[in-house]
Amino acid sequence: KTNTSRFVWGIDDVRNSLPDRKPDDHKGEHGKGLVIGGSKEMPGALAMSLKASLRAGAGLITGATTEGVIRMLSANCIEATYKELSETNGFLDNRTDVSLEGYHAVAIGMGMGRRTCTGDLVRSLVHTAECPIVIDADGLYHIKEDLLDIENRRYPTVITPHPGEMAMLLGITVNELLLEPFRYSREFAIKNNSYVVLKGMITIITSPEGEQVVNMSGNPGLAKGGSGDVLTGIILAMIMQGQTIFQALCNACYIHGRSADELISEKHSYHDLLASDVIDGLAKVFRIIS
Ligand code: AMP
Ligand code: MG
Repeated sequence: KTNTSRFVWGIDDVRNSLPDRKPDDHKGEHGKGLVIGGSKEMPGALAMSLKASLRAGAGLITGATTEGVIRMLSANCIEATYKELSETNGFLDNRTDVSLEGYHAVAIGMGMGRRTCTGDLVRSLVHTAECPIVIDADGLYHIKEDLLDIENRRYPTVITPHPGEMAMLLGITVNELLLEPFRYSREFAIKNNSYVVLKGMITIITSPEGEQVVNMSGNPGLAKGGSGDVLTGIILAMIMQGQTIFQALCNACYIHGRSADELISEKHSYHDLLASDVIDGLAKVFRIIS
C-alpha cells in the first residue's frame, strides 16, 4: 500500500484488529493510563475522559488534577483513582513533579484551560513522557509554539484536534484547512512525527508515515461539549489494548461515532444527545463488535 492510499474504517476492520478479552485476563494486561486535565472551570471534561476510558476497556485509569476537581469527581467516577497535582487558583501548574512511572500511556489537555502555568506542565510532560501521549483540547493550545518538542519525541505522539485547533496549530484559518484537510493532516503528521486525528463530521486519521484512514461513524448529536473528551478517553484505552497505534485510533473513532449512531437510532435525537450518553452507549457497540 502506498502512503497516499486512504479508505473508510468499518466494523470488519474493528473486528479484525481489536483483541478479544481472554478468560484468564487481569487488569494489568489492559493498560494503566493516566489522564491529566480538569480545572475549577472544567471539571467535567476530565470526568468524561476517565469514564470513557474505563468503559472502552482500560485496565486502570488515574485522573491527575487539582484537589478541588478530585473532590468533585471522586464520588461520581468511583472506578478511577486520583493523583493530586499542584495548582494556581484552580488551574494546574508545574510545581509538582508528575511521575509517569508505570503508566502505559498518558492523555493530557481536557478541561485544563489556557493559563501560562498550565502550559509549563504540558510542555514538560510532552518533553519527558517515555510512553505514548495523547494531546487534546487545551493541551494543543499549550504546545502550539513548541512543536519541536513533539517532533523530537522518541515515543508515539497523538494529537486530536477539531478543525479550530488544527488551524491554530498550522497558523491558518479553518476555511483554508477545510479546503485541503487531507494534505494539511499528512504534512503535519510527517513533519512533526505525530499521529493526527482531525475530527469532524468526517474524521481523518493520519500516521507519521502519512497513511490516512477516514472514519464516517457519528452524527450531529456529537456536536456538543464533551464529545471530544469522550473520544480521547476511548483513544487512551485503545492504545493500551495490543493493537498498533494507528489501528487503535481508527477503532476509537469508529466506536465513538457508532455509539452515537446506535443511540440516535434507538432512543435519542440529535438535539438531546449528551457526551455522557455516548459513554453509556459503548456497551451496545462492544456487544455488536464481539
Ligand atoms: P470536540 O470538538 O473536541 O468536542 O470533538 C467533537 C467530537 O464529535 C469529534 O469526535 C467529532 O468527530 C464528533 N462530531 C462533532 N460534530 C459531528 C458531526 N456533525 N458529525 C459527526 N461527528 C461529529
Ligand atoms: Mg475538544
